[in-house]
Amino acid sequence: MITYEIRKARTGPHSHTGVPNFIQRHIRQTTVTNVTVIRAGRFFDSEKGIFLSARDIVIKGNLIEAVAENFPIPSGARVVDLTRYTVMPGLIDAHVHLLYLEKPSGGLTAEGVKAITMEGTPLRALRGAARARTFLMAGITIVRDLGNSGRFGDIAVRTAINDGSLDGPRMYVSGPGLSPEGGQFPGLQFSYRGIAEEEYRVVRGAEDARLAVRENVTYGANVIKIYSSASPNPGYLSLEEMRAIVAEARLLGVKVTAHATSDLAISRAVEAGVDSIEHGYRVEDATLKRMKQRGVALVPTYLDSVNLKRLYAIARPNRPPTEQELAATLKQRYERLQRAMKSGVTIVAGSDNYLDLGVPQGEAAKRVLFTYHDAGMETAQILQSATINAARLFGEPRLGIIMTGAFADLIAVDGDPVGDFSAMERIKFVMKNGIIYVGQP
Ligand SMILES: [Zn+2]
Repeated sequence: MITYEIRKARTGPHSHTGVPNFIQRHIRQTTVTNVTVIRAGRFFDSEKGIFLSARDIVIKGNLIEAVAENFPIPSGARVVDLTRYTVMPGLIDAHVHLLYLEKPSGGLTAEGVKAITMEGTPLRALRGAARARTFLMAGITIVRDLGNSGRFGDIAVRTAINDGSLDGPRMYVSGPGLSPEGGQFPGLQFSYRGIAEEEYRVVRGAEDARLAVRENVTYGANVIKIYSSASPNPGYLSLEEMRAIVAEARLLGVKVTAHATSDLAISRAVEAGVDSIEHGYRVEDATLKRMKQRGVALVPTYLDSVNLKRLYAIARPNRPPTEQELAATLKQRYERLQRAMKSGVTIVAGSDNYLDLGVPQGEAAKRVLFTYHDAGMETAQILQSATINAARLFGEPRLGIIMTGAFADLIAVDGDPVGDFSAMERIKFVMKNGIIYVGQP
């Protein structure tokens, strides 16, 4: 009874139940030692990219024990009836910045310098923790946080989530991004370049690049983020630096992903051997082909039409965009995505949603999937980009999939996202690591 009350309270707007956190954790842990059987009305098989009719998912502790049709309910098992819903693996957002939220009118340098000098890492981590919860509520059970977290504030948030102090998604974290001179703060004066170095790990030569990888991994990073070019600043990492980073990361068993917007920055990073490209806005067909050949994934980070309108409403309240202006911006994004889809490159969903759009950040971030949808991507492909493709990029076969032995991260949406993609807005159930955060048995 008490577990029911707590779960109910946790799904509402006020998570405070009056029960101390450590007792809540104990209760939740006690609950998940029992077997749970989830009855799914429809079921997304992320490996095959197909939807199946009714399946039962058996969960023991934090792992999926079986997936079957008409599974006989073990005595004493908790049964969760999701027969009205579509069940799928918890969503993955491969590009977030939980500790950085920018006012759309502020600009990168001013807002970034403010975050470092006036907000500070402890406060950024506290705010990041609150944002982390909104991702979980939106059905995103795993995020990859790629820098702009001060000096390792991202690691602190992940630690607090993992030890049960906070409710939030699983986190892959990069620590400070490895960058050419100046980080991403154009206009910063030379005398104050140290401010950029509070936010970015500026790399000066191949040996320093190796050291930077060792530093980040030592202090908790489990992915390396590099800036092939520090756009909007002009600098590039050298090929020698990027190759040294990739070699050191391989040695330490972590993946490397590259911020790259121009075709030159993308092709240089691919040449150096990175695992994925973030943004890739101006990628050319020949480079896409090379990415496919080398198995380099693309994380296309685009605001959808809803977020774009929100952005305009905040950034340009007195001059709303014309329909033609909106359509032209979106058309360019859709064409880029269509070229990427046609090339056969692996697409991994990532929002890069660091703008304050006036809505919970996780909810806004999930809308990147709507950009893919509006560009013509099939629902199954979109869901693969946000589940199994991302998990494969992270090198974790037990995530992004509902199968025996996988981690019990799964969600349910109200409706059939194939016929009506807006079903993805209606999250009815969220389980992460065997613990229910949204929905009740
Ligand atoms: Zn980013």
